[in-house]
Amino acid sequence: MVQRSYEMLRRVADKFLNEHNTERVLPVPIEMIIDNKLGINIVPIPELAEVAGLESFTWNNMDTIVVDGNIHKRYPQRLRFTLAHELGHILLHREVIKKCPRNEMDSYAHYVSNMGEKERQVFENEANNCAGLLLVPKKPLLEKYQQTLTMFPALNDRTNDETIRSYVSNWIAKDFDVTERVVEIRLCFERCWEFKKNKAP
Ligand SMILES: [Zn+2]
Repeated sequence: MVQRSYEMLRRVADKFLNEHNTERVLPVPIEMIIDNKLGINIVPIPELAEVAGLESFTWNNMDTIVVDGNIHKRYPQRLRFTLAHELGHILLHREVIKKCPRNEMDSYAHYVSNMGEKERQVFENEANNCAGLLLVPKKPLLEKYQQTLTMFPALNDRTNDETIRSYVSNWIAKDFDVTERVVEIRLCFERCWEFKKNKAP
């Protein structure tokens, strides 16, 4: 699998949002879009992660996304990210997912684990980056970031400081209903911040 550039993923995510979130609603109503607009079933299964070692997967005909019910009941922002991640797979990896032999978790887990390390990393990284772009689009992110720096000018000089980063990301994350880590990564990709070596995505 040839790795797509971040700009290629951005084009896919932006095209999708232009078509399915025309009003630019924030936080992006990802569950409603998947369920109501795309007609994809979202099926929670308790203890999916424990049983299959997967937090989520998509059926090979792409009409159903299965998620771990326990984790996601407790962490709604994680559910939002997981749904965006699976949507990323559907937008990017349709041909790969179609080849999974059966619509069941063991089959999917086996299929993905047989991909080979490099290919699996590309598969998952692309879905993660696409999820970040779907949930935290560039324009409102940069607007909110500028607002934050205008409100707290002292932050400008200290954006490499872990505590400041966490504070700013957490503040911005509320508008997008994601975790602060998602915002931090997005700000790095938009070149507002540098990637920390030990925390590269
Ligand atoms: Zn995945």
